[in-house]
Amino acid sequence: MKNYLKQFPDSNGYFGQFGGAFIPPQLEPHFKEIAESYERIAGDSSYINELRYIRKHFQGRPTPVSHLRNLSRRLGGANIYLKREDLNHSGAHKLNHCMGEALLAKHMGKKKLIAETGAGQHGVALATAAAYFDMQCEIHMGEVDIAKEHPNVVRMKLLGAEVVPVGFGGKTLKEAVDSAFMSYLDQGDEAIYAIGSVVGPHPFPKMVRAFQQVVGEEAREQFIEMTGELPDHAVACVGGGSNAMGLFAGFIEDEAVSLHGVEPLGKGPELGQHAATMTYGKPGEIHGFKCLVLTDENGEPAPVHSIASGLDYPGVGPEHSYLHEIERVNYQAVTDEETLNAFWALSRYEGIIPALESSHAVAYALKMAPQKPGETILVNLSGRGDKDLDYVADNFGFGEDLNL
Ligand SMILES: *Cc1c(COP(=O)(O)O)cnc(C)c1O
Repeated sequence: MKNYLKQFPDSNGYFGQFGGAFIPPQLEPHFKEIAESYERIAGDSSYINELRYIRKHFQGRPTPVSHLRNLSRRLGGANIYLKREDLNHSGAHKLNHCMGEALLAKHMGKKKLIAETGAGQHGVALATAAAYFDMQCEIHMGEVDIAKEHPNVVRMKLLGAEVVPVGFGGKTLKEAVDSAFMSYLDQGDEAIYAIGSVVGPHPFPKMVRAFQQVVGEEAREQFIEMTGELPDHAVACVGGGSNAMGLFAGFIEDEAVSLHGVEPLGKGPELGQHAATMTYGKPGEIHGFKCLVLTDENGEPAPVHSIASGLDYPGVGPEHSYLHEIERVNYQAVTDEETLNAFWALSRYEGIIPALESSHAVAYALKMAPQKPGETILVNLSGRGDKDLDYVADNFGFGEDLNL
């Protein structure tokens, strides 16, 4: 895997058979402008220095790596460590790429950021970036999600974003994407569309990976400083796949490090009960790019479920689809129940309340640890669990029966 990051994606945005850009002709000039601007700016030292300054003085980077002493001792196998993206400003890794995208927009002379949001996490991170750069922000959100995710709607409004309610079709994420793209068509000259993960048409999977790569680079250096060695295993949850690609990018050229992506098995393997795209998906096209997709009997994107709303997407980043195909990354799925147990365990035994998304990665590490005595596991804790507290406590309680 030497030079992997330089080689992939190719100049058309392909990772093997996956990726590309399948977009309406009217959008092509805008995506081309974004791709060309990014290539120019990525090598520009004033852009790189500005991003470094923001990461240090606004986001609070580098985020630490923490050794889970209590859980590692209780499990009696591998030593588990966390990369603490929960301590990144605004509480998750998402701000890493939102700040990069907003800075790119500023350098392109744009005045506005447009995006969709499902549960509101991407909307909040992008609204934070827009406030920092004094830009306008327009977030499209399904009416069903607006009703469900009230605190994030309040946050976006406080941060100065305009939240556009989407009232057609199922009134959730898919319609929000359609609505945001339509709005972008009219405003492409003064706005950029800011995608929230390593998904979407080229150049977003490449660009978002590059913005998240700081996670893996920091973690590699910190881990070596703490232990004198590379980790044996690096683990991250996979929704669209941005926090996972951020961590993996730091280790993908180190053959000795096993990489594990963890996706949601939800309530079980029946279609509609999970969002385990790697495990059950087939090559297909969604939202303008080729990747593994979960489809129903008519070949349409299937309904998905996960206890973590940030993971319930029927597609996945093209790069993950490729890394699965060449078997560089081991993709595994864990259930809602295993996820809840990890959420409770990390809270009670380590004093860290994780996001339900990140709890998937923790759950897999807890499962793996007893079988790997003497080895080390580094988990990307992509976000904090404040947003999930009420939902878990009201519906599932406090994990009193937890036995570790
Ligand atoms: C959005 C989100 C995810 C899922 O997105 P990826 O692109 O797969 O990283 C994971 N963790 C947290 C905390 C999130 O907010």
